Amino acid sequence: MRLRLGFLLLATTVIMAVWLYPKPIPVPKEQIEVRPVGEQVRLYRHAGGIIETMPLEDYVVGVVAAEMPASFPFEALKAQAVAARTYTLRRVVSNGVENNPHPGADVCDDPRHSQVYYSRRELKETWGPLKYYRYYYKIKQAVNETAGVVITYSGQLIDPVYHASCGGCTENAGDVWKYDIPYLKSVVCPYDDHIRLNEEKSFTFAELKKALVSREALASTSGQSKTGALTLMLTEKTATGRPKEIAVSGVPVAATVMRERLGLKSTRFTWDIQEDRVSFATVGYGHGVGLCQYGAKGLAEHGSTFDQILHHYYTGVCIVDY
Ligand SMILES: [Zn+2]
Ligand SMILES: [Zn+2]
Repeated sequence: MRLRLGFLLLATTVIMAVWLYPKPIPVPKEQIEVRPVGEQVRLYRHAGGIIETMPLEDYVVGVVAAEMPASFPFEALKAQAVAARTYTLRRVVSNGVENNPHPGADVCDDPRHSQVYYSRRELKETWGPLKYYRYYYKIKQAVNETAGVVITYSGQLIDPVYHASCGGCTENAGDVWKYDIPYLKSVVCPYDDHIRLNEEKSFTFAELKKALVSREALASTSGQSKTGALTLMLTEKTATGRPKEIAVSGVPVAATVMRERLGLKSTRFTWDIQEDRVSFATVGYGHGVGLCQYGAKGLAEHGSTFDQILHHYYTGVCIVDY
């Protein structure tokens, strides 16, 4: 009886303890829940249609090598490594759920979905054996020296978007992708060495109309020229003065759509109409949001460290070890 009473008391205590047990305390925002360093990244490779699994830090080396010229200054490579790691971990944490076109993978090697990645064999082929040893170990060192370092905003991993060259100042995310993101704000880019990336591209009126305006949209616009002539009018600018919307023979077309359909290097463009042709002159390369790689190169050459570079392009963020 005494035993049974003891058991009853114990059982009641356990039930009460479970019942009264406080709900889990929310994790402080500074602590980011991620799988530990050395955890595996599942990479979908488009060429073979297979998923490769590899340690996170090895993957970051392959991304930095593919996404930034290895000849860039060391601090710029380190900044790129931290951005690439943050981007990857954000997807690893969400178990590849976030906008993932490849179920079962965290990331892929297509820049339109994810980041470019080169394996060691691919890098050896790209660089040749001599440059390979110099470049590979330079990048590996940049990754090692920042191992485990990520970028956060309000305790969350950021989406550290980057591009090749902004051409003088970066763009607000809201001007490019509709949604404003507090850490993706326009900043000046004082040392962007963008001149080499400038480009001119020319199209006939017919080519432009075909690429930009549907027949229905043109038909519904009043005052269409019967001769096939085309007009371009700037109707909206972004905060930095880039074209945001252009009326193409009266039909509104977003500059981002124009860039994509015409294969222009950036939305920092001007145009010149002569007879039946339109020439576009672009400055910079890429969407212009977040870290500017040529700008990072310039900042590093002027003495900035990798964390200063990251703080410059991502407004109000923290650089932390996870
Ligand atoms: Zn993909
Ligand atoms: Zn720039």
